[in-house]
Order: sequence, then C-alpha cells, then structure tokens
Amino acid sequence: LSTRAADILSSLDIPTSVELPGVYDGNWVGNGDIMESVCPTTGEVLARVKTASPEELQHALIKSREAYRFFRTVPAPRRGEILRQIRQALSDKRDALGALVSLEMGKIRTEGVGEVQEFVDICDYAVGLSRMMNGNVVSSERPGHTILEVPNPLGVVAVLSAFNFPVAVYGWNLALSMAAGNATLWKPSPSTPLCSIAVTKIVAGVLEKNGIPGAVAGLVTGGKDVGEAVVESRDVDMVSFTGSEAIGRIVGKTVQSRFGKILLELGGNNASVVMPDADLSVAVPSVFFGSIGTAGQRCTSTRRLYLHRKIASEFLELLQKMYGSIRVGDPLVSSTLLGPLHNTTGVNIFTDAVKHLRDSEANILTGGSRYSETPFDKGNFVQPTIAIPKSVDPTDKIWSTETFAPVLCAAVFDELEEAIEWNNAVPQGLSSSLWTRDLRNMGKWIGPSGSDTGIVNVNVGTSGAEIGAAFGGNKSTGWGRESGGDAWKQYVRWSACTINFSDEAPLAQGVDFSV
Ligand code: NAD
Repeated sequence: LSTRAADILSSLDIPTSVELPGVYDGNWVGNGDIMESVCPTTGEVLARVKTASPEELQHALIKSREAYRFFRTVPAPRRGEILRQIRQALSDKRDALGALVSLEMGKIRTEGVGEVQEFVDICDYAVGLSRMMNGNVVSSERPGHTILEVPNPLGVVAVLSAFNFPVAVYGWNLALSMAAGNATLWKPSPSTPLCSIAVTKIVAGVLEKNGIPGAVAGLVTGGKDVGEAVVESRDVDMVSFTGSEAIGRIVGKTVQSRFGKILLELGGNNASVVMPDADLSVAVPSVFFGSIGTAGQRCTSTRRLYLHRKIASEFLELLQKMYGSIRVGDPLVSSTLLGPLHNTTGVNIFTDAVKHLRDSEANILTGGSRYSETPFDKGNFVQPTIAIPKSVDPTDKIWSTETFAPVLCAAVFDELEEAIEWNNAVPQGLSSSLWTRDLRNMGKWIGPSGSDTGIVNVNVGTSGAEIGAAFGGNKSTGWGRESGGDAWKQYVRWSACTINFSDEAPLAQGVDFSV
C-alpha cells in the first residue's frame, strides 16, 4: 500500500495488512465474497473487504431487531445526547475521514471534508429534533374525547447508498432514524466499503461507551445480492434507497410488493436557466461548479444549461474560459478542482455520451476526451465537456437521461416560459436554478407554472444543498425527502389515538347504533 493511503487508513484505525471484516452487528464479522476497494486516482487496491454471507446478513437483521426493541425505550432526548457524542466523534475525525472520501471515492479534498461536515450538521439538527419530534393534539367532534397523533419508533431502517456520497447520505438517514428510536442497517456502495467501515467504527465507539447495542447502527457490505436480500426482507420496516433510477425502480417495486415503507432518492437531470438580467459574475462561476464539481457526479450536478439569446455567447465564452483554467489532478492535493471519475463505468458513460453527441452532430465547445497522459493514465480522468446539441429534443437521450459525468449540454431560448417547459420536459425532477434579478421571473419560476423539481433555486446553483431544508426530487427522482424539513416524519410509525375520558361512548359522525 502507498504511504499516503496507509497513513489515511491508520489515522482512522483501519488495519492495512489484512482482509477487513465488512459486517458489523455489535461484532465485526465477514465471511462472504471478497470485495476490493480501488483508488480511482491511481488504480491502487486500497483494501480487501470480507462482505456479508447470507447467514451473516440474516443474523445482522436479527441483531437489528433486538437493538430496535431496546433503543425504542430510550427517551428521545437521551438518544439526542448519543447523537451529540457521535457528532463530536465525527468532527474530531473530520479531516481524516474527508481524506478517506477523496482517496476512495475520488472527490476533491474540500468536498470530501464537506461531506463529513454535512454528517456533523445533520447530527446537530437531530440533537435538536430529539426534543421536538412532537405529535399533535386534535380537536375531537365528540364530547369528552381527544385525539392524539403520536410518533412512535418505526423499527429497522435499511439504508442503501450510492458511491458518490459515501458518508453524507448515510448521515442524513442515520441521524433522523436514531433520533426517531430505530435501528439502522447500512448497505453501502460496493465500491466505497472503507468509508462505511470507518464511519461505522466511529459510531460504534460512541454506542459502546453508552451501553447501547452496536446493531443500533449496523453495517452489511456487499453487492447486488446483499442489496436484494435486504430489500426483500420483511424484517426491514423501511428501505431508504439512494442510487440510480434503474435500480430504484426495482427496489421500489420489491418493497411496495411486501407493503414496506420506501424512501427513494434517485437520479437527477438538472438545469440552470439564465435570464438576460442575470448577474453573470455570480452565474458563470456557479454553473462552473454545478457542472464540474465532484467531476459531474452529484445527483444535483448541472447537466443542462438554458441561456437567453441576449447573453448566450457572452456566457459561454466566460464559462469556457473557466473550463480552460480547471486544475486537474490528485483529489488529495488541496489545489485540485477536478479529480477522476469514480470508476471505469463512469468513464464509459462519459465516452458513450460524447460519441452520441458527435454522432448527432452536436457542437462540442470544449472537452470530449479522456486525459490519457501521465500521471492521469492510471486513473479515470476525463475532460469536462460543454456541447450544444443540434436541437432541444426532450426524447433524445442526451437531454432525457442522467449522464453521470461532467458533460454539460447548452441551448438558447427566447422566453422564460420556453425554458421552463424544457426544464420540466425530462422524466427526472431533482434540482433546478434560475438566474435573474427580476422578481417577476422569480415568481413564475417558483410558482404553480414554474419548475417542477424538488429543489427550485434562484441565483443559487443546482448543487450544494444545506441540511436544513428537506432534500429530494419529484417524478423519476422518486419523490423522497431526506435530511431537514419534515423528513423525520417518515422515520416513525404514526399512531392516531382517540381517547374517551367521558362516561358515554358516542360514535363519530353522529352514527346511532343504540338498541
Ligand atoms: P446504483 O443504483 O448502482 O447503486 C446504489 C445502491 O444499490 C448500491 O448500494 C448498490 O450496491 C445497490 N444495488 C444494486 N443493485 C441492487 C438491487 N438489485 N437491489 C438492491 N440494491 C441494489 O447507484 P450508484 O451508481 O452507486 O450511484 C449513482 C446514482 O445515485 C446516480 O443516479 C445519482 O444521481 C444517484 N444519487 C441520488 C442521490 C439523491 O439524493 N437523489 C444522491 C446520490 C446519488
């Protein structure tokens, strides 16, 4: 192992010379298939991880159920206190964990650290929430009656996560699920097992110190088989799935067919719309970050750019200049702005998209190739690309599917209504942003005839959400909401309790059933 990889792993107490157990249910085990963690920058094998065998998965589910039975009786503010300690433990390891995200996933340093910060932030949020997960007192139509709506812990929540946010997505779920009194079982992406092991170790340390069963925050690493088994299990009360539309469609159907609860956070295909009155000095750098940040591998990355005719040439000129200045390289070096794609699948997605653009006679303004010279030849480095397709045809896959790579497609419009129609014409509905200084445009954009995405920004790019508002998308993005807002309400089982403290037993709606 290279020295820098060894240093990062040892700073997180991860042994470097053995096959790592990738299952935690209170104890660390792992006798399933061996999975390799590969560094996207250098191609180096970082670790070999022993995934969950079918028996170990079933055992983990039993331990999760037991842990839930214990944890649901712990008062919510006490659960909050444990989350406060988890927050502190994560914060203490923020830089080391952030570096591991860069090493294993490939995103640049500041974004790796930012991802850990997001976990810290949602813990803060959940600490507060643990004293505010209030139910309701509802007026009853019957005398001497009252109705309570009570949020009770739900059970076992499985979190299946994607490679591109190997820490934060679990954080959003774990924090709310724990505050709500559940046991959470994590099935991370098969290509980022080290991030999940490191996070689980940190959380497990806090649980242990507090005498809480480790299976309150369990881990089962593995691939499709493990994912399928988790999703199919009737022992899982809710599945929170973050990943592609294709897998989300299968997962959603499976969970629905056994009447489990499902939360889906799927792909995005996000547009920025720039009006002639926009402040280009903020709009251009924001679109630059939106399309290139995380090498275009955020669910909220800007993939479509709709420019008003009056500013289109100037905007593209400025944007191309910024693309030309991008610092490509090792994501662990703090000055780097563009790291590699996470894996070779990403490179193929990029290559296919560029080929499609070329075949359909799009104008490729910049990019379009891999970086193949040293030192990039060992990693998955691709050139960020801007293209102007021949037409805005929402049925063409270049517009209608999510290309999970730094490919930005631009088009020119004349009226805001036209741009809104294009924005809404795709199956996905995650994020969108309008650039304008005119209140009337903003009113249209955020109102009933405006953007139909879950995140509707104004003078803020499509990517880079804070934890305070509920995060999620509509349509084929899956309608899920996580993190802030009212998202916690999905992690509980609601009990509507009508209580009679009178000496009569009247029926609702005045129904008379007297003999
Ligand atoms: P993916 O769909 O390939 O994998 C997601 C998870 O599903 C992984 O843990 C994987 O092992 C598991 N899985 C695969 N097949 C399965 C099956 N048949 N049954 C159960 N589980 C199965 O996604 P990915 O390539 O890791 O991530 C990229 C995608 O995630 C992009 O589409 C991106 O937009 C999306 N994403 C969405 C959000 C959001 O909040 N909306 C956030 C991050 C990523």
